[in-house]
Amino acid sequence: MVLYERAPAKVNLSLDVLGKRDDGFHEVEMIMTAVDLADRVELYPLDGNRIEVSADNQYVPNDERNLAYKAAVAFKNKYRINKGVRIEIEKNIPVSAGLGGGSSDAAAVMRGLNRMWSVGASLDELANIGAGIGSDVPFCIYSNTALGTGHGEKVHRLAPPPPCYIILAKPDIGITTRVIFQNVNTADLTHPKTEQVIQAMEEKNFEKLCSNIGNALESVTFSLYPEVQRLKEKMIQAGTTGVLMSGSGPTVVGLVEHLSKAKRIYNGLRGFCDEVYIVQSIDRR
Ligand code: ATP
Repeated sequence: MVLYERAPAKVNLSLDVLGKRDDGFHEVEMIMTAVDLADRVELYPLDGNRIEVSADNQYVPNDERNLAYKAAVAFKNKYRINKGVRIEIEKNIPVSAGLGGGSSDAAAVMRGLNRMWSVGASLDELANIGAGIGSDVPFCIYSNTALGTGHGEKVHRLAPPPPCYIILAKPDIGITTRVIFQNVNTADLTHPKTEQVIQAMEEKNFEKLCSNIGNALESVTFSLYPEVQRLKEKMIQAGTTGVLMSGSGPTVVGLVEHLSKAKRIYNGLRGFCDEVYIVQSIDRR
């Protein structure tokens, strides 16, 4: 029997880099919310103990480098399961875009295997396993709205953003997160007002949210990829109420309150950049 899981993208509403740790990781503080742009992950039981993975995207590896494959290995090891699975991924989330697509596929595989093999693990247990696969995987296990600390893997539930439309604009480049962090000089960063963003979401204050969102990695990504900065400027000119880059880029996130405005901006951005989407947070509490 085939089993299906949605793997939603995440967007950042803030991203701060607090410093570099002795283990080489950067200490971060970031606010993320899951949105209704999602990969489709299908799981098919396989005879034997094999794991197979395939994704319909040329930039995604169909082998043990795939984060979904790593998630299946980690899950099987943790619960000592000698069964096989074939993972098929329909990629709808742009790859290397700052939208956490690979992490979300990994999280979806763990949620799905938990059901397929009736393991009964809690989401907290799955998040613990996920932390060993990638910093964003624990967030993606819950796919709600959260503050990620440590190197992003420690997640603390937050109030969702006030109802609004989120425009995602992605230039035709892929960015490797590692490269951006290698170029971080912590003394040069502009820090977002994380606490104000959290308050704005608790108060459901859209204007306050928009005036406080920010991403400390923007200056680093902008200096290496000036087209991302140009895209951000274009989105401000187009009338988005709040704008920031997601993750290490290149996707730029614009917030607006009304759908009519979102559609107008969407139409203006198409042709200017590779891919544009209008999405919403899926976290409705
Ligand atoms: P991050 O900010 O965590 O780097 P991202 O959204 O920018 O996330 P992803 O799309 O998750 O980037 O993928 C980044 C890299 O991971 C790519 O080089 C890709 O080949 C590899 N990868 C491995 N598994 C997957 C997967 N299931 N989906 C997408 N990319 C994957």
